[in-house]
Amino acid sequence: MAAMNGSGVHKPAKYSAFNLLRRGLTGEGWPRAWRTHDLRPAYDVVIIGAGVHGLATAYYLAVNHHITNVAVVDRGYVGGGGSGRNTAIVRSNYLTPEGVRFYDRSVKLYERLAAELNFNVMFSQRGHLTLAHNDSSLRTMRWRAEVNKLEGVDSEVIGPAEIKKLVPFMDVGDETRYPILGALYHPPGGTIRHDAVNWGYARGADSLGVHILQNTDVTGIDVREGAVRGVHTTRGDIAAPIVVNCTAGWASIVSAMAGVSLPIITHPLQAAVTEPVKVFLEAVVVSGTLHVYVSQTDRGELVFGASTDPYASYSMRGSLEFTEELAGHVLELMPSIAKMRVLRQWAGLCDMTPDFSPIMGMTPVDGFLVDVGWGTYGFKAGPVSGEAMAQLIATGKTPEIIASFDLARFAEGRLVGEKGAAAVGH
Ligand SMILES: Cc1cc2nc3c(=O)[nH]c(=O)nc-3n(C[C@H](O)[C@H](O)[C@H](O)COP(=O)(O)OP(=O)(O)OC[C@H]3O[C@@H](n4cnc5c(N)ncnc54)[C@H](O)[C@@H]3O)c2cc1C
Repeated sequence: MAAMNGSGVHKPAKYSAFNLLRRGLTGEGWPRAWRTHDLRPAYDVVIIGAGVHGLATAYYLAVNHHITNVAVVDRGYVGGGGSGRNTAIVRSNYLTPEGVRFYDRSVKLYERLAAELNFNVMFSQRGHLTLAHNDSSLRTMRWRAEVNKLEGVDSEVIGPAEIKKLVPFMDVGDETRYPILGALYHPPGGTIRHDAVNWGYARGADSLGVHILQNTDVTGIDVREGAVRGVHTTRGDIAAPIVVNCTAGWASIVSAMAGVSLPIITHPLQAAVTEPVKVFLEAVVVSGTLHVYVSQTDRGELVFGASTDPYASYSMRGSLEFTEELAGHVLELMPSIAKMRVLRQWAGLCDMTPDFSPIMGMTPVDGFLVDVGWGTYGFKAGPVSGEAMAQLIATGKTPEIIASFDLARFAEGRLVGEKGAAAVGH
């Protein structure tokens, strides 16, 4: 696609210590991070979903390819889906070479994102530990470590004594119900501030002329003679030769509007956070066997997550069963935090695929693209997905880094099995 320019490029306020001081002293307020717009009747690209994937795609379309006549349309608000509900773990220690290369590119993009967007995304590479409580998990950890090393990703299997040094309060004794035999240690892994990433991309895309259209529900997709022509929304129709589905938990509903069927089942995923306490946990700790993971925020809260609820649903409500089960599993690992109180819990939707890898690229409908199947692990992939989808839209050619994640793989039996690295350890 030739480079096209929308109107409305503007320079956002610079976030800096000097400007903070200046505005504090003069009383001058900060402008809105992104603007509101009326719908144009036509755009060159319509992206459905203002989560990290939709926003990153729009941002890289504008910044890397100068395609700015773009709308990001969301039925709710920026980050109202999984992108504002996740537990913000970023890592690249996956199982398949395709997966490792893909997520590693995302980590690299995240490392420079704060400077690029002039937005503090609080990326904290504090190290990531996946515990092994049995021989088969340990074997998978060794396998992952070898694949990671071959792909140049820092990852190794360590024993209980080294784990104890990294997480001193963890019970690594062999008297526990699920003794810890070892762990996959991944130093570049860590956490990020998810809202800041969403807002930073939204602000960056907006400043380059992209329209972010919140409270705009896509109710239908116009397909004629095998090609997409635009979308119907609650605020009017929009014509567009390219429509991208970035709706994660709602992906199969939205794709069905274009007549494209996806092998996706939506499950709720819950998480919980405790009251804040003095910081004592540096690394992110994951136990697949105990269905639990934990990290501590800079404010001191412990953030807990688990695997998805075991039934398909579009409900985003937390449940007491989840908290009870989670608490039991957490105390297996860390008996000393028994007196801490859970502050709140929440849920989001996860678009699960059969092989725990995403679905990205073209579909049988010309101009209708998907960037979906993000399950429990898609936040960390926002930057690389946005970069690759933008390249695909701009050039019409599928970038090598996402080639294995095409929709056709399910019909052709080329699954990219990531279950061993993506089921609990988001
Ligand atoms: C509790 C929890 C913990 C998680 N932890 C992690 C983690 O630690 N690390 C990690 O990498 N991933 C994690 N994930 C997964 C991650 O959050 C998602 O994979 C990712 O955010 C998906 O981003 P997205 O941009 O594709 O979709 P979303 O952020 O879900 O955005 C989709 C958007 O589409 C919009 N939409 C839907 N239908 C329509 C329509 N018809 N018209 C217009 N708009 C529509 C929605 O309003 C929504 O805003 C977690 C998820 C949950 C729920």
